[in-house]
Amino acid sequence: MLEVRNLHVHFGVIHALKGISLTVNDGEIVTLIGANGAGKTTTLRTISGLKKPTSGEIILDGVDITNASAQERVRIGISHVPEGRRVFSNMTVLENLELGAYLRKDKEEIAKDLKKVFDLFPVLADRRKQLAGTLSGGEQQMLAIGRALMSRPKILLLDEPSMGLAPLLVQEIFNIIKDVNSNGTTVLLVEQNARMALQIAHRAYVIETGRIVLSGTGAELMESEEIKKAYLGG
Ligand code: ATP
Repeated sequence: MLEVRNLHVHFGVIHALKGISLTVNDGEIVTLIGANGAGKTTTLRTISGLKKPTSGEIILDGVDITNASAQERVRIGISHVPEGRRVFSNMTVLENLELGAYLRKDKEEIAKDLKKVFDLFPVLADRRKQLAGTLSGGEQQMLAIGRALMSRPKILLLDEPSMGLAPLLVQEIFNIIKDVNSNGTTVLLVEQNARMALQIAHRAYVIETGRIVLSGTGAELMESEEIKKAYLGG
């Protein structure tokens, strides 16, 4: 479904991505793990069109989208939940969710998707009229994911969804990611919580200073001595 080929990204003189190649197949959860500053966020931002690569290609369902606008990418099925959630604090939960569907015109299907999001996140249904800024951190993360689902993506890009959440909520967010995936959405997940990410991922890539250094199934990487030492606390 998604193929990234030899992606190079610069910020001025900083060579942040040095030839990233990865694939995400239809129906998979793929995770990208790595330390702070390795290039995970930059990889997601380049896939969703927020950062222009110096070279390389991004292919979605066989179509080269390297030069497509971010908006066009949302339209064809890429939805990005950025790090730090970024919901619109002064808008209600419902308004935030409706915004997620702003490129769509199929009112009946939008209503169906809203119902699905409320089924997935009952807490959002209960609080639909509440301002998003008054939600807890975990609820805001749910809202950010729900809003992304309202564009009915083929692939959901999630940047550190567990960041700053209490352990019980982290577990809940990971369960939700699994549910979203079981309902047919492909997921590319960036995480610093490598243990949890590898547990739910079909496949994983390890990124270090702008390069993919290792890849395999989630289970394989969990067993790797290198990974245990570097990312799973020994
Ligand atoms: P984190 O988990 O801290 O977000 P990351 O793996 O997502 O880390 P990136 O944020 O992608 O890493 O950063 C990759 C590299 O690019 C780092 O060296 C970072 O300093 C640099 N970088 C990222 N954004 C910018 C920017 N806007 N301007 C300059 N350098 C940047």
